[in-house]
Amino acid sequence: MSALEKAFYSPVGRKVAAKAGLAEPPRLRRGRTFPHGAIVLAPLGGSTLVADTLTMLGRAYESPVIDTGDDAPGYGDRIGALVVDATDVRTAAELEGLRAVLRPAVRGIERSGRIVVVARPGGTGAGWEADAVARGLDGINRTVAKELRGGATATLVYAHEGVTPGDLLSTLGFVLQGRSAFVDGQSWHVRPAATAVDELAERPLEGKVCVVTGAARGIGAAIARTLARDGAIIVAVDIPAAGESLAAVANEVGGTALQLDITADDAGARIAAHVAARGVRIHAMVHNAGITRDKMLVNTDAARWGSVVDVNLAAQMRINEVLLDSAVEGGLADDGRIIGVASTSGLAGNKGQTNYAASKAGVAGLVISMAPDLAERGITVNAVAPGFIETDMTARIPFVQREVFRRSNSLSQGGSPVDVAETIGYLVDPASQGVTGQVVRVCGQNLVGA
Ligand code: NAD
Repeated sequence: MSALEKAFYSPVGRKVAAKAGLAEPPRLRRGRTFPHGAIVLAPLGGSTLVADTLTMLGRAYESPVIDTGDDAPGYGDRIGALVVDATDVRTAAELEGLRAVLRPAVRGIERSGRIVVVARPGGTGAGWEADAVARGLDGINRTVAKELRGGATATLVYAHEGVTPGDLLSTLGFVLQGRSAFVDGQSWHVRPAATAVDELAERPLEGKVCVVTGAARGIGAAIARTLARDGAIIVAVDIPAAGESLAAVANEVGGTALQLDITADDAGARIAAHVAARGVRIHAMVHNAGITRDKMLVNTDAARWGSVVDVNLAAQMRINEVLLDSAVEGGLADDGRIIGVASTSGLAGNKGQTNYAASKAGVAGLVISMAPDLAERGITVNAVAPGFIETDMTARIPFVQREVFRRSNSLSQGGSPVDVAETIGYLVDPASQGVTGQVVRVCGQNLVGA
């Protein structure tokens, strides 16, 4: 901590900060924990998709579920979550039903509570008005997320036609639990899946091999720990210079360390050989390793450009090509998972980061493009896009600028590496088969690119 930071976080500094409107940020509920208060179900029509999913989930939590039926809810006590089934909402007039159930919930939700709306996506031939309404719901979700207080979040899930409660289960479980603490104001899609699921597993990755690059520290180390908590056998990859901390992480999670520069020509082959030596295939390949070499474009030479694009994007494409070859022993299993790590500043564009934006927006483009091609093999391909996360990478940003960045989101704080890790844990869960080609931002609804 710099002298300036010490002063800022001292008792006097805190008082000054509070006067300047920089209030103490809310403490977020994290982990596999559900809200304390009741989970209120609001079905806006005849669909029972969300009700049936909550019934399945009910085996995992103890909070009561209140079904509001046709009545707009008015709650005596604070509620833990409001889950709206809006899959029958097709017209602008029907949006009123959503306003009616959201209004009391916005005021009556507990700290770190949840508002979740499940709706049909646009663009499926249901008509112009239905498409407008589907997008309108996204506007509502983003706005509600900005109005909520106390670490409560809002999420919109687009459930495609044919999605069953089993397909929705892992998503609803993730969104309601503290695992999604730093995912706010986001929407993503769930499609029908081939595999049937009927309960939320505590350790969904039991015995499955997950490879994590950049695992020696920061977000990568948190990914290794979180996936290991969920039962995974971790292969922790990082450069030889980080060998000591890499070994420490691998030992801590009971996995193995593989010292490797992911830009090496034989990186994919070495990962496969390491896994094949244990007689297994890979369940999840998590491409987390990444670097920044920031400069304004006028000062960006070919070396700065090339190293960032190679580590953050090109290396993972080369590795994927090897691991996706079914003939390669120790490659990716059918029904496996590929995860890219993008970045909100990359997606939105950020001064001084043209090279980083090229690579990170490229990761988003890559997963969207790969997903349909690999669907037949049951392989899902998704990305997470972290916002401001408290790591060594962001600790290098000058203090004042850092303080502005970490507060520029709806939760008024930086995220923790574990928040990114939990989101990856959700995406690599075998029960998340219907979630592919998605880029999920883990940014507390960062004002940049949210
Ligand atoms: P970090 O710098 O703390 O850790 C990155 C790790 O990757 C290091 O251990 C490093 O040795 C390893 N690595 C770098 N080049 C490598 C190579 N060629 N081969 C193998 N390993 C290599 O970074 P972090 O903050 O933990 O970020 C992890 C990922 O999240 C990165 O892709 C980063 O771009 C992304 N991200 C971070 C933030 C944030 O706020 N920290 C925000 C958005 C995106």
